[in-house]
Amino acid sequence: MAHFDLLLLPGDGIGPEVMAEVRRLIDWLNARGTATIAVEEGLVGGAAYDAHGVSITDATVEKALRADAVLFGAVGGPKWDDVAYEVRPEAGLLRLRKDLDLFANLRPALCYPALADASSLKRELVEGLDIMIVRELTGGVYFGEPKEIVETERGKRAVDTQVYESWEIDRIARAAFDLARKRRGLVHSAEKRNVMKTGVLWREVVSAVHAADYQDVQLEHILADNCAMQLVRAPKQFDVIVTDNLFGDMLSDEAAMLTGSLGMLPSASLGAPDETGRRKALYEPVHGSAPDIAGQGKANPIAMIASFAMALRYSLELAEEADRLEAAIAAVLDKGLRTGDIMQEGMRLVSTAEMGEAILAEMDAAA
Ligand code: NAD
Repeated sequence: MAHFDLLLLPGDGIGPEVMAEVRRLIDWLNARGTATIAVEEGLVGGAAYDAHGVSITDATVEKALRADAVLFGAVGGPKWDDVAYEVRPEAGLLRLRKDLDLFANLRPALCYPALADASSLKRELVEGLDIMIVRELTGGVYFGEPKEIVETERGKRAVDTQVYESWEIDRIARAAFDLARKRRGLVHSAEKRNVMKTGVLWREVVSAVHAADYQDVQLEHILADNCAMQLVRAPKQFDVIVTDNLFGDMLSDEAAMLTGSLGMLPSASLGAPDETGRRKALYEPVHGSAPDIAGQGKANPIAMIASFAMALRYSLELAEEADRLEAAIAAVLDKGLRTGDIMQEGMRLVSTAEMGEAILAEMDAAA
């Protein structure tokens, strides 16, 4: 039986509450003998600061480097608003991304039929929507140097530098094409080659990778601003969208919100494959620690549970279990169970734990 090591970092606020529902699923998978999943837990964010004075310890980072996958809850909260910048809760997440070299951020936008009416777009535009945005996460304008504000004779001058090297584009393109092969086989590459040199290079490298190794996948180039428009005009035309750090930040939020609440949105961040094909990986909900509802059993655990489904699919090679878990989420929504953030008239309001239990019951029934 396959053996996997997972590191769970619940974090702060609702992080531990939603992670508890994943814990339940892991125990169930272990009890069924599908695989043996060994779990370690660690502190991150404000919880780590309270215990150790840092947002993540070296020992926890070491464990993350050794794990088959890291499951991350959420960090932050008003309690730590005034701690030093270097040890603020978010620094723990940034360090993990950097030390694990997680350069590919995967953000699915999936519309569950039961929630299609909650979208800001018409039902027919979003029903059955299934898009994956692949955002380059470690390069581009958020990290390029110089990055500064300097005094000039006329006032101040602010500079951010958008910079990409071909190897960075090459590896994110490969990640997108590999994913497309497991999906509908279509990649849109979004850049601004009409006004940016990085856009010119982006298109050139993506085209070269495609021609060399991925001709079985369909590649379309699209200007990032047009991509933003097409996402609200006809989102179902897309399968995988690959784009840089800045455009990916915007496009992934836009695509995700087509499908509803923050409490529903999972994500994955992947590193480069090693010689065995295994990628370092971190899975986390898109939402934060939601201090306004923390400790009240109100949090929607679906974003965290769907992140775990992504871990099953991309890190544990348990695609069937991932399918079953995603189907269980859809079934529970079909039956009208809702946490407060997705509550609709005539539906049944449930707590975090009740939602987790209902999803597990669906898994059990399908097993
Ligand atoms: P947030 O995502 O925590 O919450 C925004 C709103 O959405 C809140 O009203 C919250 O109650 C609601 N919400 C979020 N997740 C929910 C869920 N699962 N179920 C039901 N409702 C949910 O964003 P924020 O309020 O801007 O930030 C709160 C804290 O989280 C801050 O300290 C921020 O820095 C941190 N944060 C952390 C991450 C992360 O850990 N990756 C991401 C974003 C924000």
